Amino acid sequence: AKELGRARFQAFHENMEYDFSKKVQLENDLHKALNENQFDLHYQPQVCTGKDHYLRMEALIRWEHPTEGKVSPAAFIPIAEDSGLIQEIGHWVLKTACATAKQMVRRGLNVVVAVNVSAHQIKHPDFQNLVETVLKDNQLPAQHLELEITESILMQELDMAVIMLKKLRRLGVSISLDDFGSGYSSLNYLKQLPVDILKLDRSFIHELPFNEESQKITTSIISLAHGLGIKVIAEGVENQDQADFLIENNCDYMQGYLFYYPVTSDHIISVIETLSPS
Ligand code: C2E
Ligand code: CA
Ligand code: CA
Ligand code: CA
Repeated sequence: AKELGRARFQAFHENMEYDFSKKVQLENDLHKALNENQFDLHYQPQVCTGKDHYLRMEALIRWEHPTEGKVSPAAFIPIAEDSGLIQEIGHWVLKTACATAKQMVRRGLNVVVAVNVSAHQIKHPDFQNLVETVLKDNQLPAQHLELEITESILMQELDMAVIMLKKLRRLGVSISLDDFGSGYSSLNYLKQLPVDILKLDRSFIHELPFNEESQKITTSIISLAHGLGIKVIAEGVENQDQADFLIENNCDYMQGYLFYYPVTSDHIISVIETLSPS
């Protein structure tokens, strides 16, 4: 049994080492990725269940690694966060998304582009200046930009996060709370964080409309949010039954494969133009 234990430990250990060196390799490659133009932004339109005059979409980063092929942001964003590279990458995302938004605004499209922002960026004392500069450089009015933050990561240093979010909102950008309900003490956050929009986590939507608990949670969150003057976006809407339930229960926006997959930057403008009430 002792031998077996050791063998297991060794296998586990080797596996860790493999993961570790893989991480180190990805981190090294991430350094090059920006300079070598390996990143791209895709955009996933969000559909409105009512009559909103904004055309909304979420920007999602893509990495085409020269030898590994596509690497998921779920895999490399945490590495970028640990290594500090997220500041540079996040800046690139913000600049690129604002430039695209500006192109659309120039065509007379009333868009809102939502950009995912890491807690590490929010915690950077200069973040608000950086956002302001990017908006100015692109001559993009702030109402066309939304910043998506994830609740769990703001746990520590909540007070500082609240101050930064208030500054950002004062610029005129809107704030959305991503993956709502997937973490803990969500309700407590809602009270404290200055947010305009709440994104209902995919895990609830997945079980709609037949799971009674998910139904109740979803409708309660929607009415709670509305009571606080906050709009609701449902994430990961994949079938018509889910959409019907959400529409019936006053969810404001829906996002998911039922409507659109994320679209490449080359195509997003023409896709958004088809959505525009001309
Ligand atoms: P997220 O912010 O929750 O983004 C939504 C994810 O769900 C995206 O995955 C999107 O492609 C996917 N999705 C959209 N509709 C559906 C659907 O109907 N069903 C299912 N199953 N999935 C759907 P993606 O693009 O792989 O991104 C994964 C995560 O990586 C994001 O989760 C976000 O946390 C992070 N991320 C992506 N882009 C950025 C970025 O530019 N900056 C930062 N900091 N994080 C990013
Ligand atoms: Ca998001
Ligand atoms: Ca999300
Ligand atoms: Ca997420």
